[in-house]
Amino acid sequence: MLVDSHCHLDFDSFDNDRPQTIQRAFDSGVGALVTICTHFSKFPEIVSIANIDPRIYCSVGIHPHQVAEESPITLDNLLEATEHPKVIGIGETGLDYYYDQSPRNDQKASFRTHIAAARQTQLPLIVHTRDADDDMASILKEEMENGSFPCVLHCFSSGRMLAETAIELGFYLSLSGILTFKNAEDLREIIRDMPADRLLVETDSPYLAPVPNRGKRNEPSFVVHTAEKASEIKGLDIDTFSKLSTENFFRLFSKAALNQDVQE
Ligand SMILES: [Zn+2]
Ligand SMILES: [Zn+2]
Repeated sequence: MLVDSHCHLDFDSFDNDRPQTIQRAFDSGVGALVTICTHFSKFPEIVSIANIDPRIYCSVGIHPHQVAEESPITLDNLLEATEHPKVIGIGETGLDYYYDQSPRNDQKASFRTHIAAARQTQLPLIVHTRDADDDMASILKEEMENGSFPCVLHCFSSGRMLAETAIELGFYLSLSGILTFKNAEDLREIIRDMPADRLLVETDSPYLAPVPNRGKRNEPSFVVHTAEKASEIKGLDIDTFSKLSTENFFRLFSKAALNQDVQE
């Protein structure tokens, strides 16, 4: 069993075949998936997708790209949303200095609000970070000193310093299709040195389809290709890596584990 720890099933690209896409994931051995909120205004839609099947979970948050267009989210907005049993994480949130679609100070303020919610609920913070390694590392360190919270850096593709900082803080790294890309040798070198008990896998679908599907629409069933590459890098067979990354997922996303126990 594998878990797709980060996908976007609410996006338009799944409008024509959402149920079939979800079924293909289950048929290919994906035992759980998390559909990630990017627009707080779309949260009800996200929850309704999570409600399709007990193996689908969701998060609540505002992507750094959307910070400018969505009115500032409050701690209370986030806390109230986490009361829903399907909401197992806070995000995605963070800093994106590559696209800079929202002013950096607004991105930081929104990020800190999400961190406060993760600290208070102890639900994991789902972090998006691009071209912002220094600010990301310093905010995470500073905020952890104010009270700890669980956290994953999703679609990890940053530098070694940020990977090491995250591991030192007790956080997790989630690996996407980027790991399979030909030009990602630096990333593979970093992941080779990171502890296997802190690694998750994800698709970030519909984006970033792993090789051999690179360039196509990504979907949760493709997570197996990223897992295969990760197992190769870590020198583990695929079954061992799958079991390990699934255990890592349920250790971090403990509210999902709790729900699983209830279902059994
Ligand atoms: Zn992201
Ligand atoms: Zn995402």
